[in-house]
Amino acid sequence: MKIMVAIKRVIDYAVKIRVKPDKSGVETSNVKMSMNPFCEIALEEALRIKESGRASEVVAVSVGPSQCVDTLRTGLAMGADRAIHVEFPGTLYPLSIAKIFKALVDAEKPGLLLLGKQAIDDDCNQTGQMVAGLLKWPQGTFASKVVLDEENKVVTVDREVDGGLETLCLDLPAVITTDLRLNQPRYATLPNIMKAKSKVIKKLTPQDLKVEIKSDLEVIQVTEPPKRKAGVILSSVDELIDRLKNEARVI
Ligand code: AMP
Repeated sequence: MKIMVAIKRVIDYAVKIRVKPDKSGVETSNVKMSMNPFCEIALEEALRIKESGRASEVVAVSVGPSQCVDTLRTGLAMGADRAIHVEFPGTLYPLSIAKIFKALVDAEKPGLLLLGKQAIDDDCNQTGQMVAGLLKWPQGTFASKVVLDEENKVVTVDREVDGGLETLCLDLPAVITTDLRLNQPRYATLPNIMKAKSKVIKKLTPQDLKVEIKSDLEVIQVTEPPKRKAGVILSSVDELIDRLKNEARVI
């Protein structure tokens, strides 16, 4: 069975985000970019499934500008067998990405499509759900445990929900989106970084996949969150109650 993994290139989680002066978005030039952390977890899970002998190939896919190739090389160095880069320089929204993945799944026929539960740049948390809808495949979102039973063509997914754990059994092929506690992604070793240089990255465009990139969404403006005021240390519980009553008016 083949596993396809969606890998998004995003601003590194440790970078302090700066909003562009014209409020049209956030500054991405000269900013460190990395693989979306939830996508690292998705790739790690795919690699573990393959290493346990229950999958034959892991294909990493990224959609976006030419620099996505660097992110895909990281995925190949972690252990993906090959990669597909769907090149598109402009703004992309989840529905367009989902349509691209639908077209790729139709062509590649993986048994499992793994995505991060959300991209840390747009925090949309939509792409996995949308692609499952387009494919009419079952979906297990926010997976904290994945057990694949290839023989019976099912996968069991634990999901952390309010107040407990929900366990789903999905028929394959299926879409799974990965949560933080699923696994601890590996680092790429130097020999694997060298090996990754010779692995194949296939180039495609949305037109090759017959997907028209358009969106019903328009970002009106992006602004920074209001600055938090400094806290104060109060001298007594009585003063705290007085302030909550008379200043904050919450009690
Ligand atoms: P989102 O719905 O934008 O929060 O993204 C959820 C997941 O969809 C990400 O963690 C990725 O696995 C996948 N995804 C979103 N955008 C892209 C992209 N441009 N290229 C590859 N995968 C993507």
